[in-house]
Amino acid sequence: MNYEAVIALEVHVELATRSKIFCGCPTTFGAEPNTQVCPICLGHPGVLPVLNRRAVELAVRAALALNCEVHPESVFARKNYFYPDLPKGYQITQYDRPLATGGHLDLEVGGEVRRVRIRRVHLEEDTGKSFHGGDAHGSSPEHSLVDYNRAGVPLIEIVSEPDCRSPAEAGAYVEELRSVLEYAGVSDVRMEEGSLRCEPNVSLRPVGSERLGVPVELKNLNSIRAVERALVYEIERQSALLAAGGEVRRETRRWDEGSGTTRLMRVKETADDYRYFPEPDLLPLGLDAAWIESIRRSLPELRAARRERLVRDYGLPPYDAAVLTASRSLADYFEETVRLTGDPKTVSNWLMGDVMRLLNETGVGASVLRGRDSTFPPASLAELVALVQEGTISGKMAKEVLEEAFRTGRSPRDLVREKGLSQISDTAELEAVVDRVIEASPAAVDEFRAGKEKALGFLVGQVMKETEGKANPKLVNELLRKKL
Ligand SMILES: [Zn+2]
Repeated sequence: MNYEAVIALEVHVELATRSKIFCGCPTTFGAEPNTQVCPICLGHPGVLPVLNRRAVELAVRAALALNCEVHPESVFARKNYFYPDLPKGYQITQYDRPLATGGHLDLEVGGEVRRVRIRRVHLEEDTGKSFHGGDAHGSSPEHSLVDYNRAGVPLIEIVSEPDCRSPAEAGAYVEELRSVLEYAGVSDVRMEEGSLRCEPNVSLRPVGSERLGVPVELKNLNSIRAVERALVYEIERQSALLAAGGEVRRETRRWDEGSGTTRLMRVKETADDYRYFPEPDLLPLGLDAAWIESIRRSLPELRAARRERLVRDYGLPPYDAAVLTASRSLADYFEETVRLTGDPKTVSNWLMGDVMRLLNETGVGASVLRGRDSTFPPASLAELVALVQEGTISGKMAKEVLEEAFRTGRSPRDLVREKGLSQISDTAELEAVVDRVIEASPAAVDEFRAGKEKALGFLVGQVMKETEGKANPKLVNELLRKKL
């Protein structure tokens, strides 16, 4: 029998607020364990939560960017369960009356546009983080440790409808979601730091059937690649199980990056009973329609619109526009540099080639290019483009200069001056070298005169070699043709 995969995704995203959702503790990532806590986020008896207005604003921005309807009234609920990373014994979340519902996200997969519907977006608080079996901070096989710095950090949970049909579609969904949230400025969306966490559930059903199979939930996915690999593995595991006459159980499985497999975490016999009830310490969340509208108006241009605009306004090929809009930082960098140089395609080529290679090699995101501490701000790339355009340096020299400017933060013009890199564009000086090369290469000269264009390339190469790459290649070409 042929099966098809049905995938839905739950994504948790930490909102980029400075303080937690119900108390004033800071949310900075990477602080010493248990240094960003207070009686409220530690769940001491008798404390009361106070909702962070900025968290609500960012959640509304996210919901609007995902084309959802934001409800004028939503309700916080207690989700009761016991786990050491949850000091109150319950999590404050939203249940039957979430912040927003009914959105969608359009993805491009294999040249086709697919729409994935979004069921809901709701606000909740994050839990603490447990360390088991010696994985960090001095935990050991006998002792688990808990860091409560993350307890109470504001989250949104984004739940999709089961609309993805392949691991590639699920990967494209997470990629697009990440981009939309980055553009909307609601989160720094770093999967490796856990500020975006993705839990897909996948089931199989016979092709043509409308019934959903038994879903298996996957956890511990720290990159988009891990999401896709884990789904590929899980679909194969379930297919083999069904083909052998077995049954898929409703369970949660943990992805293990090292072995490339999923392992059973827990079996669910029935849906968990969390005894949800309305949070008595918080009023229903009432949102003013005018406030929601003002947030909608403040939303920046998102990726798809920007991609179209880069093609329309700058005449970029669609491929370039797609690469440059992968992050808002990179697209902003492109536009700022073009404002300084007026040469979109050249700027695009540098960004897609050497600059992205250096970003990948140094493992930093495009966001560092535009900060106050940037070693290679738009002005530096603009300077480099100008140096090539005015003929001071060749394209090859420019690559070296770019690399050094990028790594040291120095200005390309200073580097060129200091290294004496400028190209030789002095006709008299080059003429002498050209004469020497013609005399030393009679065979190539004869071939060229016999009509072999290729031989000219050899002669240009010899001149470049003699001048250690400093000759202006255009001028060398002209001189050689004139003399031959
Ligand atoms: Zn606190």
